Amino acid sequence: MTSPGITVVGAGIVGVCCARFLQRIGFDVTLIDRLEPGAATSFGNLGMICARELSLPMPSMRLVRAVPRMLLDPDGPLVIRWRHLPQLAPWLVHFVCSAGASTRRRNARSLSSLLGRSLEAYRTILEGSGAAPLVRHEGSLIVYETDAAFAAGAADRAWLRDLGASIEEVGPGDIRDLEPALAPVFCHGVLTRDCAHTTNPGRLTRELAQDVLHAGGRVVRAEVRGAAIADGTVRLTTDHGPLVSERLVVAAGAWSAPIAAGLGFRVPLQAERGYHTRAVGVTTGLRRPITHGETNLGLTQMDDGLRIGGTVELAGLNAPPRPGRARMVYRLGRRLLADPDWDRSADLVDWMGHRPSLPDHLPVIGPSPRHRNVWFAFGHQHIGLSLAAVTGQVVADLVADRDPGIDVGPYRVDRFGL
Ligand SMILES: Cc1cc2nc3c(=O)[nH]c(=O)nc-3n(C[C@H](O)[C@H](O)[C@H](O)COP(=O)(O)OP(=O)(O)OC[C@H]3O[C@@H](n4cnc5c(N)ncnc54)[C@H](O)[C@@H]3O)c2cc1C
Repeated sequence: MTSPGITVVGAGIVGVCCARFLQRIGFDVTLIDRLEPGAATSFGNLGMICARELSLPMPSMRLVRAVPRMLLDPDGPLVIRWRHLPQLAPWLVHFVCSAGASTRRRNARSLSSLLGRSLEAYRTILEGSGAAPLVRHEGSLIVYETDAAFAAGAADRAWLRDLGASIEEVGPGDIRDLEPALAPVFCHGVLTRDCAHTTNPGRLTRELAQDVLHAGGRVVRAEVRGAAIADGTVRLTTDHGPLVSERLVVAAGAWSAPIAAGLGFRVPLQAERGYHTRAVGVTTGLRRPITHGETNLGLTQMDDGLRIGGTVELAGLNAPPRPGRARMVYRLGRRLLADPDWDRSADLVDWMGHRPSLPDHLPVIGPSPRHRNVWFAFGHQHIGLSLAAVTGQVVADLVADRDPGIDVGPYRVDRFGL
């Protein structure tokens, strides 16, 4: 008997997890990417694999009100390249529409049902994988320098607890005990014990892609230039010639919109560009990912050095990166460590990546409403590493026509009615 065939476009962490879960239930998988697996956005994140504590979607009226102030601050967490504004306008309108309290509550419930399964899904996919040693279970810590910033998050913390997130408030002494490498300037912290992290997000994705190969799948290096369905069969046009497949999963991250458009769906997908700087070769002693409560930037000790990253730049897919932005984040983050000269001999390397974001900050996960053999898995915004494994599990269930145990209605590709 031959296994049913399926092609997954995109070998970022989301596509690779879809491929692995599809293989586990017997599909013959072809994974296709124009780059090496894990070389795009999934290379440069901060490594956090979290659960329900990430359930609150970013669009909120508090954020909408804060945007004008953020845009006036050159060191602020958000910049918009004004030339990109006409293209961005529909996304911004949808973003504001998603910020209302009742929409946000509904979306938070949806996200929490996915995130509640994130760690378990990773446990499944990492079993017996060369990627397993790259994941640690040390929790994560948000630290605050001011009472005001901590107090401003009180309502969100209460809400997260209602959604089932296990978060603990900790004081300055606990922070020193938990993370002696941090500067002694923090008056409050929020500890999440059941958050995991990877010490090498790019390698994690590559190792899982290796698992796809070892299990008999194919990893093809080619750029998909179009997708169409003819006579019920998927026909991909690539820079290496045509590729025909019985089934298709579109998991091309921030580049998924043209592929979805070719299949008849317009999606308001934007890249929320983020930056990091790596202080290569530095070991700081940080045990878990740290988020700075005031600026939302993060620090994670990776196996090749300390990574400091964050920020959102709305400038489309093709504008060149601004290295100054990465260094701004680095400057703000480097002072959070106790040793003022911790990076004295480090090589600094800058990076920019494209978070794939729909304006309601929910991903697109589910079947094409128009085809019986196409599924979508993109738009995982700031939490794609955390959501990747559970997305793969849900997609595999849907492809196999099994109940995924999660209502995927909120993640429909056509929910924006465009
Ligand atoms: C600074 C920063 C920090 C972050 N920190 C975290 C974190 O700590 N935890 C967390 O959960 N998330 C985090 N994220 C978010 C996370 O990195 C992303 O959500 C995730 O990587 C998205 O994965 P993806 O597979 O959808 O996209 P990608 O990794 O971008 O993969 C998409 C793939 O599709 C391929 N592709 C696109 N178009 C085509 C085409 N036409 N033909 C062939 N191939 C194509 C691309 O080459 C690429 O490899 C962070 C993001 C940033 C920027």
